[in-house]
Amino acid sequence: MTRSHRHKTAAKRIKPSPLAHTGKIQGFIFTAEVTATEFYPRECFGGFKAVTGYPSSQFLKKDFYNKTVVTQKDAGLLHRFRYSASSAASHSNATYRIVTREGRSITVNEHLTLIREGPRRKLVGGIVTVSDRPDRNTSPGAIRKNRVRFEEMQKLNKHLLEINQLKDEFLANTSHELRTPLNSIIGFLTLITEGYYENEHELHLFTRNALESSYHLLSVINDLLDISRIEAGKMQLQIERVYVDELIEDVSSLFKVQADQKGLIFEPSAKGSPLYASADVRRLKQVLINLAGNALKFTERGGVRVSAEILDGQVGFTIKDTGIGIPRDQQNKLFQKFIQVDGSATRQYGGSGLGLVISKHLIEMMGGHIEIESKGAGTGTTVHFTIPKWTKEDT
Ligand code: ADP
Repeated sequence: MTRSHRHKTAAKRIKPSPLAHTGKIQGFIFTAEVTATEFYPRECFGGFKAVTGYPSSQFLKKDFYNKTVVTQKDAGLLHRFRYSASSAASHSNATYRIVTREGRSITVNEHLTLIREGPRRKLVGGIVTVSDRPDRNTSPGAIRKNRVRFEEMQKLNKHLLEINQLKDEFLANTSHELRTPLNSIIGFLTLITEGYYENEHELHLFTRNALESSYHLLSVINDLLDISRIEAGKMQLQIERVYVDELIEDVSSLFKVQADQKGLIFEPSAKGSPLYASADVRRLKQVLINLAGNALKFTERGGVRVSAEILDGQVGFTIKDTGIGIPRDQQNKLFQKFIQVDGSATRQYGGSGLGLVISKHLIEMMGGHIEIESKGAGTGTTVHFTIPKWTKEDT
């Protein structure tokens, strides 16, 4: 038999499991700490319930998974596997059987990754179902041969690990963004209550700083609530006819004083009046405030122009400034959460790095798109975005 012929017949014999075939591979991810004798579950995400039938809170109960779910025949082996993964190897796999809440016996594959956090060793595990048929094909030997299913499991596992890592990064960034203004509020209020100020002027300065940090904290919390609502698919929009000229006037009146104080020109314009957009007025205003606010924040000389006109059957908005501009290599990153061109601790401009992400989501949810353009540092920035035009059919 030729090599390629052998290969073909082997491939034919590999039957995808019924679960794989119907796309019903289920999985969940966990983090845990392990000692020679104990397993301490810490977190559990994803489909624990879909795999075992038990609520995921049960996984966090020490010994529940190992003593109630894992078949007793495999429990000892599983613990030794986890303990050795936590002491040496960085990636390892085990296949064993569990009994679901309804009493079904199924095979699962557990993939472990060791993460070192200082002296602590944490295991991140991904568990995926392999097959729920108690036939001979589910023996560890047969499963190892089944390349198709194994690759699917690896992919799902990798995906779950990535989600876990993103969640960790998001939490780390979020707590930093919340703690910074909170520390500043506590700092200034401590100075005031302990009487560490020289005169009325200094007292006023400290109070104002505490108040500004409170407003900043509030806006970070609002941004975080918005982003989590959007990402959970829970942001509801109320699409209606929006009179664009009036909206631009409204937004401009909010920024005129600030522009005057900085000696900047603030120029609103709506061409082809009356202009009507099909949008959620509150959310469209939020986007304009955010973009015009950025334009003013990052401009020290010259000015900001906010305009709207009909472009290719849509309402095209442009917010153009003569400010610090954006280096080209940074431009494509700005629609990611928490990204700021100057992300250093000593950065000159406030902000949370969430405004552009939220704006992009809102614009796209309303049926438009956004682009940011700058020829580089020091050359000003132009943001274009579109929103569908209000038509008679929308009435
Ligand atoms: P932030 O709250 O930090 O302003 P955004 O998501 O609105 O968050 O903006 C992210 C980053 O994009 C800003 O920190 C800044 O580095 C850059 N940026 C946004 N708009 C402008 C602009 N008009 N001019 C220069 N840089 C800008």
